[in-house]
Amino acid sequence: MRRRQFLSAAGFAAAGFAQAQQPSGSAGPRARGGMRSASSGFPGGLQPLDGGKIGNTGPMKITGIKTFLVGAGGRNWVYVKVLTDQGIYGIGEAYSAGPDEATIKVIEDFATWLVGQDPRNVQYLFDVMYNTTRFPGGLIVNSAISGIEHALWDIAGKSAGVPVWALIGGRMRNKIRTYQSTGGATPQQAGENAKKMVETYGYTALKMGIQAPGEMPYNRATRETVAHVRAVREAVGPDVDIGVDVHAKFFEAARAIRLGHAIEPFNPMWMEESIRTENFAAMKKVSDHVNIPLASGECNYMIHEFRPLIELQALDFVQPDICCCGGVLTMKKIAAMAEAQFIMVAPHNPMSPLATAVNVHFAASTPNFFILEYAAPDSGARKDVLKEPLMVKKDGYLEIPNKPGWGVELNEEAFKHMPPAPWRRGTSFRSDGSPYFQ
Ligand SMILES: [Mg+2]
Repeated sequence: MRRRQFLSAAGFAAAGFAQAQQPSGSAGPRARGGMRSASSGFPGGLQPLDGGKIGNTGPMKITGIKTFLVGAGGRNWVYVKVLTDQGIYGIGEAYSAGPDEATIKVIEDFATWLVGQDPRNVQYLFDVMYNTTRFPGGLIVNSAISGIEHALWDIAGKSAGVPVWALIGGRMRNKIRTYQSTGGATPQQAGENAKKMVETYGYTALKMGIQAPGEMPYNRATRETVAHVRAVREAVGPDVDIGVDVHAKFFEAARAIRLGHAIEPFNPMWMEESIRTENFAAMKKVSDHVNIPLASGECNYMIHEFRPLIELQALDFVQPDICCCGGVLTMKKIAAMAEAQFIMVAPHNPMSPLATAVNVHFAASTPNFFILEYAAPDSGARKDVLKEPLMVKKDGYLEIPNKPGWGVELNEEAFKHMPPAPWRRGTSFRSDGSPYFQ
């Protein structure tokens, strides 16, 4: 059978598919927390088994998707709430990209496709969103897909009466190791802050940035970074892991290589985003010339970008972000590819405590999980945004929730007092006027 005949027989005739792309219902206005809904999804596609029952649970359909844009004090948090006709709902978090209203709009567009579908067919609905978009998504589209996907998993867990980790491999550890970022204007302050953080939360690892503001001469930036790393190492002792985040401030691989050699005596856990992430061959060049572990991945998406990165052995740790890499199942696949290359996973996680909860389920069930980025939710917006955020214990680890779904709930009442505001990354300029990433 020729390809066109096969597609036609399989129900993917061009005309039918085009028809399927027309939203079948009109959308209601989206206020903060407004709901986009449509009366049905699209013709064709997956048919329900056994009248829609899955095991002992009854039929279920998505009835709408709510979004919440919540001000976190500077940056916004983007939440997704998928509603069903069974009263069960699921929650998820999309990455805060900057133009977060755009992410909301993409989620609303996807909602017109998903209403009427069984939310428990997570991979299928992911493929509907991914394939319908056609062009590989960037930060906005992939964040929208990721946030929706989280919510589908939450529903799947609640429907089955089990935590999500029980659906994605089961639990293979008792608790989740975390680290938090620290800093200080001077080496002395950096050391004092790091020591205090370890004493307060019991962390076994920390992360710090490099010292390379503006046009600071490279030799000075290297010198000052070394001074800060040395101070933190001396403050926390030889056995607390220290990640050093270049944050892609370097353009040339040679700069990263020289810094890697300079901080090697302090046994860093890793050097993170040693250069920008677009050029995998350049990342491999760095890895070929340093003697410390390398980590990266927060700016990469989907299995397709991580595959060459992992196959090249350009990294020792991959750092996908579950709020933009494609979601939970995509991150499990990235982890599996990394596992086959003996590479560990250390999820990037600067978003809200909901993202932390989603990550904990991933970490609980993934063999090559290493450590989770984390910020203790004991102040500011982090304290209020969930009813019961996951709080690190005195040993630097998180407990694994055992309630159905994610085991956490959004505090929607608190959102009323957390208005969003436009947020944009700053742009830096050299003295000659040319822009650079800072
Ligand atoms: Mg980073």
